[in-house]
Amino acid sequence: MAEPREPRTVAAANGIAGDQGFGAVNPPLYLSSTFVFPGFERPGSYEYTRAANPSRDLLADTLARLEGGAGAVVTASGMAAVDLVLGLMGRDDLVVAPHDCYGGTYRLLSLRRDKGQFDVLFVDQGDEAALFAALARKPALVLIETPSNPLMRVVDIRTIAARARRAGAKVAVDNTFLSPALQRPIALGADFVIHSTTKYLNGHSDVVGGAVIAADKADVEALSDWAKITGVTGAPFDSYLTLRGLRTLFPRIEHQQANAAAIAEFLERQPQVSAVHYPGLKSHPGHAIASAQQAGFGAMLSFQLAGGVDAVRSFVEAVRVFTLAESLGGVESLVAHPATMTHASMGAEARLAAGISDGLLRLSIGLEAETDLISDLETALTAIDKAR
Ligand SMILES: *Cc1c(COP(=O)(O)O)cnc(C)c1O
Repeated sequence: MAEPREPRTVAAANGIAGDQGFGAVNPPLYLSSTFVFPGFERPGSYEYTRAANPSRDLLADTLARLEGGAGAVVTASGMAAVDLVLGLMGRDDLVVAPHDCYGGTYRLLSLRRDKGQFDVLFVDQGDEAALFAALARKPALVLIETPSNPLMRVVDIRTIAARARRAGAKVAVDNTFLSPALQRPIALGADFVIHSTTKYLNGHSDVVGGAVIAADKADVEALSDWAKITGVTGAPFDSYLTLRGLRTLFPRIEHQQANAAAIAEFLERQPQVSAVHYPGLKSHPGHAIASAQQAGFGAMLSFQLAGGVDAVRSFVEAVRVFTLAESLGGVESLVAHPATMTHASMGAEARLAAGISDGLLRLSIGLEAETDLISDLETALTAIDKAR
């Protein structure tokens, strides 16, 4: 059988009809924690699930193919995936990270730095001078997040990766916001791709999981060994569910981003909204880079309410189709207030520096009818005016 080439074929069908036992079309779920030794000093292909498990391996293989990597390690959460890469760092190493990175990543990097496990420099990677100054300090790792959370800032992966590589650094891209359906960082020069599979890859808000995909085989082995040692590998059942969600990744995200584009255009016209951050808008400063490096603009956006935190309260209390909750990438639409929710742990000063103000709201656009989503937003915006 010829290997499937198109990513959407990989997503829909990798591992289908591969069951050697009973010819199951859908790959079986192997919950077993341990595996038979066929003889003395003769292990089988699997021994113990912390180290390796067939259900988890199939998800890892599918993710590696989708991202164009040499292999992948599936972890228990997105944060475990970030930390797995950070586990490769030593005491004298420097990590350069975006100043507006995911709140949990910001906290993890800061706390590990405070423990003296490595040094960290948070920089605005869209600022050339700041990036050059950071690279001059010869970092071991440059972490990129594009589009960024929650401001949807876009940076040029190919350019930053090339410069980082010249400075001797490895490059990791957190690709959670777009998924390999819309952005493939390894093709742009990244060494590692990090995912919170909790988001678009699973897509149904019923699993917390993560993955790291590496471009080189040696890096895959280093990561697998470390994951085995620390025990951060994902559970078989979670892997099974995530692969099931992943089957529909392409149609989901394509439909969700069409909804998001319509919503971004709608929001841009509303008087209560002072700014809309969506890379698909021509007004977005990263529009040209996003058009070149992404296969689509995604289904995440954020916007600024002119009325600040009072307007935020009225808005989130009035929505009925959107749900006030953290997380993103599921089939249902969510609204989050970064300052008090996802980015609360960052502290007011760091939020201010990153441009995350109290009037900012983030939307994760789902699969509902566009008309229902827009009329829900209309109602919530009207509620702001009524409350004044
Ligand atoms: C959610 C998220 C993470 C963390 O993933 P968990 O699965 O919640 O641990 C990391 N990076 C980004 C960009 C995320 O959105």
